Amino acid sequence: MDCLFCKIVAGQIPANIVKRTELTTAFNDITPQAPTHILIIPNQHYENMAEVASNDLSLVGEIFKAAGEIALESGLGSYRLNVNTGAAAGQSVFHAHLHLLGGRPFAWPPG
Ligand code: AMP
Ligand code: ZN
Repeated sequence: MDCLFCKIVAGQIPANIVKRTELTTAFNDITPQAPTHILIIPNQHYENMAEVASNDLSLVGEIFKAAGEIALESGLGSYRLNVNTGAAAGQSVFHAHLHLLGGRPFAWPPG
């Protein structure tokens, strides 16, 4: 399958990997939107987070757990977790991922 994030998991495309578990991989976003911008992804391919949830609910927990641990380890008191689902919502890579953004204030509502 021609999936960019599957290739990162497989080590076929370089990425700055922050944390790796048996089930998840976290790496720096190539176009950071905040001083900290990390993507946490399942190692197994799913198109989006809803697909992860309907196939393997505990994997959703693993992804959020990794995000929380990275935020703690990075000393982020406040941060934003974001899931874009579908092109109109800003999803551009169709391998499920959770954005962890921190290090600056964030506005609400998002754009
Ligand atoms: P989304 O738009 O929610 O699908 O998020 C996809 C994210 O992947 C974007 O923030 C991109 O900057 C990021 N991205 C795309 N290619 C790479 C790459 N090779 N390494 C790291 N991040 C990437
Ligand atoms: Zn994939």
